[in-house]
Amino acid sequence: MMPSSHSTFPNQVFVALGSNLENPLSQIRRGIMLLAGLEDSRLIKRSSLYRTAPVGYANQPDFINAVVQLETRLTPHQLLDALLEIEHSCGRVRTFPNAPRILDLDILLFNNVQHSDIRLVLPHPRMHERSFVLQPLLEIAADCVIPGQGPAAGFFAVCSEQSLECIASS
Ligand code: ADP
Ligand code: MG
Repeated sequence: MMPSSHSTFPNQVFVALGSNLENPLSQIRRGIMLLAGLEDSRLIKRSSLYRTAPVGYANQPDFINAVVQLETRLTPHQLLDALLEIEHSCGRVRTFPNAPRILDLDILLFNNVQHSDIRLVLPHPRMHERSFVLQPLLEIAADCVIPGQGPAAGFFAVCSEQSLECIASS
């Protein structure tokens, strides 16, 4: 008997993409394409693309943000390594926290895993306070619950005044 798709790709994952350098729109499109080709994984859904004013370090160009849903056989740390490799292959250089970046790939949710070590924190520790994460996430997963915290929609309701503009369907 053929294995079900559920057992083939057992892990449900949401990944956030962000870019504000070197033609961010094309960086995000390329990032989504590379995520669609990720080993042992498949792309399930992709959000629209959003234009966002920078948060944290404000004196830098606007961001393009999006969220994708993947199913994967990778472990959380294998996925993190694969994402860092894609960031690196797209030319990202790390300078200082919240600095401008060619491509940022963050694991938002990995099943219902709650985990924290020096390399990886799940769910992503700042996702609940960022409308540029929550709006695209809710677009593709309206009922999404952040493990240990509650429905993503409830958090979006209290940060939705952050400026965010939907610019393209893909
Ligand atoms: P940020 O995304 O917060 O702006 P970086 O992209 O420079 O910062 O990531 C810094 C480090 O954050 C990465 O090297 C990675 O080890 C760590 N990290 C911790 N949790 C996560 C997560 N859920 N997704 C992606 N990276 C994470
Ligand atoms: Mg990151």
